[in-house]
Amino acid sequence: MTDTQVADPISTFVTSQDFKMLIGGQLVDSESGATQQVLDPSTGDKLTDIPRGTTADVEAATRAAQKAQPAWADLGVAGRARCFATFADLISRNRERLAMLDAIDCGNPVTAMRTDIDLCSAYLDGWPALAKSLTGDVYPASPGNLHYTAHRPFGVVGRITAFNHPVMFAITRPLPSLITGNTLVMKPSDETSLSTLALAELFNEAFPPGVVNIVTGDAATGDAIVTHPDIKRLAFTGSVGTGLLIQRRAAESGNVKHLSLELGGKNAMIVFPDVDLDLAVEGAIYGMNLDVCQGQSCGSNSRILVHAKIHDEFVHRMAARLAQYRVGIAYDENTDVGPVVSQAHWNRVNGYVESGVAEGATLVRGGDRPDGVPSGGNFINPALFADVTPAMRIGREEIFGPVVSVFKWSDYDTMMSEANGLDLGLTASVWTNDLSIAHKTADALDAGYVWINDSTRHYFGTPFGGTKNSALGREESKDELLTYLEQKVVHTRLGEAKTSLDRLLG
Ligand code: NAD
Repeated sequence: MTDTQVADPISTFVTSQDFKMLIGGQLVDSESGATQQVLDPSTGDKLTDIPRGTTADVEAATRAAQKAQPAWADLGVAGRARCFATFADLISRNRERLAMLDAIDCGNPVTAMRTDIDLCSAYLDGWPALAKSLTGDVYPASPGNLHYTAHRPFGVVGRITAFNHPVMFAITRPLPSLITGNTLVMKPSDETSLSTLALAELFNEAFPPGVVNIVTGDAATGDAIVTHPDIKRLAFTGSVGTGLLIQRRAAESGNVKHLSLELGGKNAMIVFPDVDLDLAVEGAIYGMNLDVCQGQSCGSNSRILVHAKIHDEFVHRMAARLAQYRVGIAYDENTDVGPVVSQAHWNRVNGYVESGVAEGATLVRGGDRPDGVPSGGNFINPALFADVTPAMRIGREEIFGPVVSVFKWSDYDTMMSEANGLDLGLTASVWTNDLSIAHKTADALDAGYVWINDSTRHYFGTPFGGTKNSALGREESKDELLTYLEQKVVHTRLGEAKTSLDRLLG
């Protein structure tokens, strides 16, 4: 298959669709006419141009969201849940188109993107159910007084997302802010905006005008959201560097913003010598999220700390298993591992592979460009490094790609201090059949989400997020829902019942 044969039908599929931003119920271009180009990571070919939103577009989106918010809040949870149900139905009817757009735009295998869309139903059903269960509190008060709490939405929420699960993030991440009665200005990643723009039409059909506004664009567009004085609640998914910048810029905007950050990870998988080796190797590879997004996932296994007794056999079996993964064009049904998102990201990941070799790690397999793929695509054979130490860049920095580092350990305390020794703490996993060692180790791990004999899956309703620089706040649970609501205490002086009654009744 040549590059041109691949590109032609795909390019027709993309150019036959209209990609517009959504502002105040209208599908629009940027008011400045500015655009950004979309490239296919599987071929490097240009696919189309999409709007690049400006400060004026963010302003228009925020005004529309402000205007729509009171009526949206007045609908109540049940009314808002009906819009969620309509939206869910529209998504299932557009499943194939949305999955294909993510494969073409992001490089994730189309088979995995269908699964990503299917996983959204847990969120579309789950958020309304959780919101219906929210209650206020009544506090003890002295006689003649009553204290209770009430929740109110913030108003307009700004939501900025990362590139790696485009359609899933665009569907699921806005839901807790919407079900609590807020309206939204959302910006997807400039690398992978196509499926979110395709969703604009569906949001528009399911929700009243102005409730969901979508502005595409780059860092400057994101900054206009972060610093907008009428956006008091910001939610961000992306890298630690951008997260820190957003904290600073939000503060510089001059008003206090409520902020949640879902950031990077360098996640440790700890393997004890008593494991079933095949299960642990499968878990290690499954946890890399190779066949979902080429390892470009915040919660992926990235450091595998294997006990010396089983280390060599573990590495040997892992290399053999990785060799079975088929790297190829993302929209080919037989592909397991697609290309990374962009040429710039390929350069970054390749730089890590080179640094691993230069710093003395053993490249057991992969890290090279596979044969038989389009020459312009951003492909990397999944790389397995052994003999990695915490001093090496591949041992301590987030790579966000198909590269995994194996460390050998024999002393428990040294291993644990290495596992906890970074300023990141998103996920971790512990693999052993010894229950007390498993729980002791899980307890000692400085991470927000720890699996025992499992990896990567997280479940709606349980709080997801990290410690240290990996996160501020938790998502996917009641904890998150409450962060989209202001709490108010109402104090009532009941007065002297007899006096009040006498006055009222004459
Ligand atoms: P990124 O930080 O480069 O970009 C994220 C988003 O921020 C994009 O929409 C981008 O356009 C926008 N942005 C960039 N600069 C901005 C600025 N100055 N002001 C406002 N917005 C700005 O991240 P990425 O490359 O898209 O995603 C990869 C990172 O995201 C990894 O570190 C990964 O671990 C993390 N991530 C975390 C989670 C999680 O749930 N913890 C999930 C997915 C990805």
